[in-house]
Amino acid sequence: MSTPVVFLGAGPGDPELITVKGRRLLDEADVIVYAGSLVNPVLLDGVQAEIHDSASMTLDEVLTVLCDAWQAGKKAVRLHTGDPAIYGATREQMQGLSKKGIPYQVVPGVSSALAAAAALQAELTVPEVSQTVIFTRQAGRTPVPEQESLRNLAAIQASMCIFLSVSMIDKVVEELIAGGYSGDTPIAVVEKASWPNQHIIRGTLADIAAIVRASDIRKTAMIVVGQALSDDPTAASKLYDAGFSHGYRKSSK
Ligand code: SAH
Repeated sequence: MSTPVVFLGAGPGDPELITVKGRRLLDEADVIVYAGSLVNPVLLDGVQAEIHDSASMTLDEVLTVLCDAWQAGKKAVRLHTGDPAIYGATREQMQGLSKKGIPYQVVPGVSSALAAAAALQAELTVPEVSQTVIFTRQAGRTPVPEQESLRNLAAIQASMCIFLSVSMIDKVVEELIAGGYSGDTPIAVVEKASWPNQHIIRGTLADIAAIVRASDIRKTAMIVVGQALSDDPTAASKLYDAGFSHGYRKSSK
C-alpha cells in the first residue's frame, strides 16, 4: 500500500525554517513537485527524489505526476511555500486526488506572514490594541469577495498581513485609508522574509507607497499594517503587569 501523497509547507525561505517532519519527508521522497517561483531551491540540495518545478506546469500535469508516483508505490511530496493552506491553490489538487481515490496528508509550514512578523520583531496581537490578525490580499487578477475588500476589512482596525499585493501598493494604501486607518498608522513591507537578501521597509500609510516605489521591491513581499507595529509603550500587554492578577499570579499592587 502506497503512503499518502504529502502536501508540505516549505516555510518562508530559510532552509532551517522547515519542520523536522518536513525535512525528513523531503529526504525520504521519491518524487517532489515544488513551487519553483517561491520555494528556496536550497531545500532540495542533496535529495534523492526526481524533482519537478510546478512553475511551468498545469494543474493536470501536477496531478498526473503525483498520481503516477503514488500508483507506482513511490513517496510523492507536493512542496508549497510557507504554509500550504494560505494561497497555496491546494484545494483543487486535493480534490483532484480525492476523485482518483488517492489519499493525501498535509504537513504545515511557517507562513511568510509569520516570518515577516519575526523579521519585524513584532507582536501582532497587542492587548487593547488588536487581538485579531487578518491574512488577506488586494484584489488583482484574482478577485476578492466584495465583503472582504481591504476597505471593508480596514474598518476592523486589526493587524493585517497582506499577501500578493506589493505591486499594487498605491491601491492598498488608498483602500486602507478609505476604510478608516489614519495616515499615521504604521505599516511595513518585508521582502523575502528569512532569505539572506531579506529587505525591510517601515513607514506610515502616508509615506509607504512612495518608499516602496523608490525601492526595487516588486514581488515576494509581505505588507504588515496596524497599530500593533507602533512602538508606543502605552500599548503594552497587561499579562506581565504587576497590577494584573490572573490564574497563575496575584496582583502585587
Ligand atoms: N503559502 C504561502 C503564501 C503563498 S502566496 C505562505 O504561507 O507564506 C505568495 C505570496 O506570499 C507572495 O506574493 C508574498 O506576498 C508572500 N511571500 C511568500 N514568501 C515570502 C517571503 N519569504 N517574504 C515575504 N513574503 C513572502
